[in-house]
Amino acid sequence: MGKRRIAILGATGSIGRQALDVVSRHRDMFDVELLCANENVEQLARSAIEFDANAAVICNESKYPALAAALSGTDVKVFGGMSSVESLVQGDNIDIVLTAMVGFSGMLPTVAAIKAGKTIALANKETLVAGGDFIMDLARRYGAAILPVDSEHSAIFQCIMGAAGNGIRKILLTGSGGPFRTWEKEAIAQATSAQALRHPNWSMGAKITIDSSTLMNKGFEMIEAKWLFEMAPEDIEVVIHPESVIHSMVEYADGAVLAQMACPDMREPIQFALCFPHRLPLDSKRLDFKAMGKLTFEAPDMDKFPCLALAYEAVSRGGNIPCAMNAANEVAVAAFLKDKIHFYDIPALISKAMETVPFVAKPSLEDLVDTHEEIMKKTGERV
Ligand code: NDP
Ligand code: MG
Repeated sequence: MGKRRIAILGATGSIGRQALDVVSRHRDMFDVELLCANENVEQLARSAIEFDANAAVICNESKYPALAAALSGTDVKVFGGMSSVESLVQGDNIDIVLTAMVGFSGMLPTVAAIKAGKTIALANKETLVAGGDFIMDLARRYGAAILPVDSEHSAIFQCIMGAAGNGIRKILLTGSGGPFRTWEKEAIAQATSAQALRHPNWSMGAKITIDSSTLMNKGFEMIEAKWLFEMAPEDIEVVIHPESVIHSMVEYADGAVLAQMACPDMREPIQFALCFPHRLPLDSKRLDFKAMGKLTFEAPDMDKFPCLALAYEAVSRGGNIPCAMNAANEVAVAAFLKDKIHFYDIPALISKAMETVPFVAKPSLEDLVDTHEEIMKKTGERV
């Protein structure tokens, strides 16, 4: 494998830090060109020095002086603001852009990277949820490859690699079911953010952990799969699999089902996206089937977890409805994290946004940004 020059957007987060862990184990394979974060100056500076980054950007411009001070006397070039990220990701010194920032903030830098024909290692699923049609069109037009980092989509991608040109009939998208899978609806209604943050199998950033507890994350992943693999939503079936050993499956016309399995460790799909199509060693925990004994599966409960049904509704209505759903979810999750609203206020706020947003059938980037900002504002008022 030739050396790859990478940019990591969201370098201080859960995915960003695990990506740097992967890089640290294969230093001869990667050059870290660009690292970006929003607020966390100290960690961004530390990583920029450790990985000898060419440049570092702090998106929150008010923190620029602190980053400049932390990196003074080093060779790292220092920038502030999202517009700097947008121009730097287009640099000739970058091959792969790992999008690991959270929420709609990933949209503009991803668009910029696609326009420069970069390979996108996509963790920031909200970009595809909000603007899948627009993004996939753009990627085709500029010849930019989009490689999945999300574990389910990496699993599907890995299963499809053995397809020898045969189309798939169905995607079986697995999910743990989150911390409230076995709870009664009345108890879930009273759940606190601290309880929702206790994910059974994965350690992730706060927003996606809440999304996992509402199953909105699985709804987002269904939409992400629709765009990445050109599948109709009715051919993407969500299967609850509490052990998180099978990361997803594909079914072929003859009934054969291929599954991808591994112990839950995000470094595996991250490394696969950064090294594709090569498989490098990883010091991960290995599956022990005899100790495991059995794997279990069940149907998702859309009554207890209405966000999943809302995602199917949003994608079937299309246009800017998924963008509105995503924006309302961002505001609702932030409010739930501060315990300002109850668990079931999250789907209620999303549903309200989807009912009231003015419909745009084929949204441009500008329409997506407008829808996002408008719904953020309206949902904030409703909170
Ligand atoms: P974290 O909250 O852990 O990290 C988010 C990162 O994005 C941080 O580096 C943060 O910077 C930066 N960031 C946050 N807001 C902004 C903003 N407005 N502008 C620029 N940068 C910003 O999130 P995760 O790593 O958990 O998730 C990142 C993405 O990956 C999400 O889209 C998530 O859905 C997806 N994903 C995550 C998985 C996981 O296991 N964590 C699994 C699959 C997908 P700072 O630290 O300075 O605030
Ligand atoms: Mg996932």
